[in-house]
Amino acid sequence: PPPLDLAAIRAQFPILAERIHGKRLAYLDNAATTQKPESVLRALDDYYRHANSNVHRAVHELAARATTQYEAARDRIAAFLNVTREECVFTRGTTEGINLVARSFLQPRLQPGDEVLVTGMEHHSNIVPWQLAGAKTVAARITDEGELDLDDWRAKLGPRTKLVSIVHVSNSLGTINPVAEMVREAQQRGIPVLVDGAQAIAHEAPDLRALGADFYAMSAHKAYGPTGFGVLFARREHLEAMPPWHGGGDMIRTVSFERSTWNDLPYKFEAGTPDMSGAIGFAAALDWIDSVGMARIHAHEQDVLAYGTAQLADIPELRLVGTARHKAGVLSFVMEGAHAHDLGSVLDQEGVAVRTGHHCTMPLMERFGIPATARASLAAYNGRDDIDQLAAALRKAHRLFN
Ligand code: PMP
Repeated sequence: PPPLDLAAIRAQFPILAERIHGKRLAYLDNAATTQKPESVLRALDDYYRHANSNVHRAVHELAARATTQYEAARDRIAAFLNVTREECVFTRGTTEGINLVARSFLQPRLQPGDEVLVTGMEHHSNIVPWQLAGAKTVAARITDEGELDLDDWRAKLGPRTKLVSIVHVSNSLGTINPVAEMVREAQQRGIPVLVDGAQAIAHEAPDLRALGADFYAMSAHKAYGPTGFGVLFARREHLEAMPPWHGGGDMIRTVSFERSTWNDLPYKFEAGTPDMSGAIGFAAALDWIDSVGMARIHAHEQDVLAYGTAQLADIPELRLVGTARHKAGVLSFVMEGAHAHDLGSVLDQEGVAVRTGHHCTMPLMERFGIPATARASLAAYNGRDDIDQLAAALRKAHRLFN
C-alpha cells in the first residue's frame, strides 16, 4: 500500500497536541491503551447527545435509536472479524472474555488434574482465570529471543490438556505467535483453543473465520476504541452449550421463582444494561482502522519498529528484550545501571510516554531474570520522530545513571 500520511493521521488525534512538561508528546504506550481519533470521540458524543437511552426495553423513539445504533455496532464488529453477530459476546474487555470462558466453558468440564496449556509469555489475564476455575496452568518454553518454543509446546499438549490458550501478540515483547498453525494442531487433537487477541486487533487484520479458533478475546481500547468495552468471539456450538455466567436483565427469556430460561445468542451472556456507547465507539474505531487500511498501518508500524530497533542498538548499556523474527511494534528494553521506573521518569520529563514494570507478565520477566522492562509500543500515529525523541531521552538517561 502507499505509505500513510502521518500528518493527516496525527491531526485526527487531539490528545497528541498536549504538551508534557513543556515538551512535545511522544506517546509510546500504545500496548497499554491507544489514543482515540476524532471520529471515535464524535461517535461517543453524538450517542449521548442524540440517542442515549436504555436499549431493548422501551417503545419510545430514543430507545429505538439507541437500540438501532447498538445493534448496528454489533453487525459492524462481526463484519470486521468475519464472524456472525450471534458469536460476538460483548464484554468489558479481554480480561472479562477470558474469565467468561474459564467459568462457563472450562470449569464445568474440568476433572482434577486437568490442564490449560499456555505459553511463557502470557498476560496474567490468560493465567489467573484458569487457576481460579481450578485448572493447572502448564506453560510452553520461551527462547532467548522471546519466541515460543513450538517443540516444547507440542510436547506439552497432552491427554490432560483441556484447553489451549495463547497470546496472539505478546504485550511485553511484541512477538507474533504462529496462532493459525497452533489452532490447527491443537484442534486436530480435539483440544479447543482460545486466542488472546488484546494486542493483535490494532495491528493484524484478524479474519476469525479463517483462523478457526474456538474463542478469541479482545479489548476496544487497544484498537483506538473506548475503555471498558470488548468482544469475546466464540463459536456458536460452544455458546449454545455453555451455561450463562452472569444472571440479570436481558439475558433471560422467562423468569419465575421456580426456574428461568435463557435468551438467544449472544444475549444469554450479556446480563444487565450494556455499554452502548462502548459498542458504538468501537464500531467507529474499526471504521477508522478501515479508512486508513490495516495493511498500511501494519507496514508503517513495521518501518518505525525497524528504525527504532536500529536506533536503540546504538544506545550504550541498553539491551532489547525480545528479538523475535515476527514482531509487532513493541520495543522492550533494560539499561544497565538504571531501574526501569527511574528510566521511565527521565523519559517522561522529556515528553516520552513509555510503560515500565512487569507488564502483567511476571512469569516472562522471571524467564529473562529481570524484574521489569521499559516498553515503547507503537500505533499508527507514531513516526521516526517519536523514536528520535525516545533515543535522545535515553542518551540523557544514560548520562544521568552511568
Ligand atoms: N492480554 C494482553 C496480551 C494484554 O496486553 C492485555 C492488556 N494489557 C490484556 C490481555 C488484558 O486486557 P484488558 O485489560 O483490556 O482486559
